[in-house]
Amino acid sequence: ATPMSITAGVGRAAEFGVLVKDADALQKASSLTTLVFDKTGTLTEGKPQVIDVHLFNANEQQQALRLAASLEQGSHHPLAQAIAEKAAGMALSPVTDFRTHGGLGVSGHLGATALLLGNRELLEQHQVDCHEADTLLAKQAAEGFTPVLLAANGKVVALFSIRDSLREDSIDALRRLHRAGYKLVMLTGDNPVTANAIARLAGIDDVIAGVRPEGKAEAIKTLQARGEQVAMVGDGINDAPALAQADVGIAMGGGSDVAIETAAITLMRPSLHGVADALALSKGTLRNMK
Ligand code: ADP
Ligand code: MG
Repeated sequence: ATPMSITAGVGRAAEFGVLVKDADALQKASSLTTLVFDKTGTLTEGKPQVIDVHLFNANEQQQALRLAASLEQGSHHPLAQAIAEKAAGMALSPVTDFRTHGGLGVSGHLGATALLLGNRELLEQHQVDCHEADTLLAKQAAEGFTPVLLAANGKVVALFSIRDSLREDSIDALRRLHRAGYKLVMLTGDNPVTANAIARLAGIDDVIAGVRPEGKAEAIKTLQARGEQVAMVGDGINDAPALAQADVGIAMGGGSDVAIETAAITLMRPSLHGVADALALSKGTLRNMK
């Protein structure tokens, strides 16, 4: 395209609620082959909710919830928010030795009780036997729930079934992108079974799951090494390195400031239709698609 038409394209994009940082971004956006989407907050609403609490070595749901919510006081993760909401109104206790384990969960002490809250991997790393929870873990994940385990003093206590719904227009927007010929990939720290269940629902082709925050950029590099021209779409601080590594970084409207600063393209609305609009526009085919 001529420099003139690209400048016009940047202006045109703004009318669609798509902020393009520079002409280079729009040019690169016109030759993409693969689109990678963060799951939480990008494909999904990013407002997970606790749907169910299952108990193992405990008999009080409220007590398990109180322990979990007390521990999550130190976390800003969306899953922490979900647990805090479920425990709204409960008296929480202060936690000592609080630690965040990136991509795994959180730990700390409540009085003399050692607590772990997170995925199976986190508990196993701390020598907690999870077999008791395995059947339920597998079932919940297959249904698209994110199961979060609570352990107290080395024993599994509870499993929180947490659901984060797809954004209501994600399926439609992804269908548009499929029709336009892109390969669609999900990139997430969540477990592979949950991720695949949600990917199937969304119409995503490939899933890269169980990725640590620092592994997201690496995953983009791997796709690029295979000759793919890659866009990364994300909303979180976690996504910034991957947004920077991608040929085109696209930040979701309403996402973190770090994601927006890093991305070449920012969607003003939190809808994946913005991605389809931006890419169609970059190819100059917008008029034919609408
Ligand atoms: P995502 O890519 O979906 O944002 P993360 O990398 O942030 O995922 O987290 C991966 C997994 O680690 C979560 O699915 C969850 O099992 C566990 N986890 C991370 N942080 C927390 C937390 N604060 N409380 C409970 N579990 C957590
Ligand atoms: Mg996210």
